[in-house]
Amino acid sequence: MKRAIIGIDIDDVLAANAEGFIDFSNQQWGTKLTINDYDEHWMEVWGVDLEETLLRAQYYHDMEVPAAFRHDTMADSVLRHLAKRYELKIVTSRRRVLEKITHDWLDKHYKGVFDKDSVHFAGIWDENVDHRSIHKTKADIVQSLGIDYLIDDQLKHCNAVAAQGKTAILFGDYAWNQTSELPGGVKRCNNWAAVRKFFDER
Ligand SMILES: [Mg+2]
Repeated sequence: MKRAIIGIDIDDVLAANAEGFIDFSNQQWGTKLTINDYDEHWMEVWGVDLEETLLRAQYYHDMEVPAAFRHDTMADSVLRHLAKRYELKIVTSRRRVLEKITHDWLDKHYKGVFDKDSVHFAGIWDENVDHRSIHKTKADIVQSLGIDYLIDDQLKHCNAVAAQGKTAILFGDYAWNQTSELPGGVKRCNNWAAVRKFFDER
């Protein structure tokens, strides 16, 4: 029987992205941001115009800041547990320029859990990046990969996937993913222990 597939986001699900981004920003550009100020919409986080945002984003990627992100230590054993029953795929909206460091980072922290073919880049921030990019979701790639469950910290991805009739796990209790109510197909799990419990009960 074909195993169900779980799609897993990297940033702020496996990797401490917001923390790494904010620390770098504070050091590099003298901002005084905290993790609660983080949002995918970097232009708003920084409070600068689009031109400056693109310059900073370019520098951030050139410096390969995500290579040094802290990993979630609770995730490793849960991923290995889930892999016995499910097929695991990574679905990230990181830019493709980070492809190599992303593979290396996953190999370093979750060795043997994800082979290269199971890592997919949604491409949201690769082409024609402008203020509309923020509205793009992973729903298309989730559909084309035949993914049954998505674990992601961004509400927009979870809601879009739930609208396709799939199940989404809204990961983490973050400032940027608060909401008064969740659609039926979305369940919040605050950490990897909760993710394990969710799948064990299915
Ligand atoms: Mg994320």
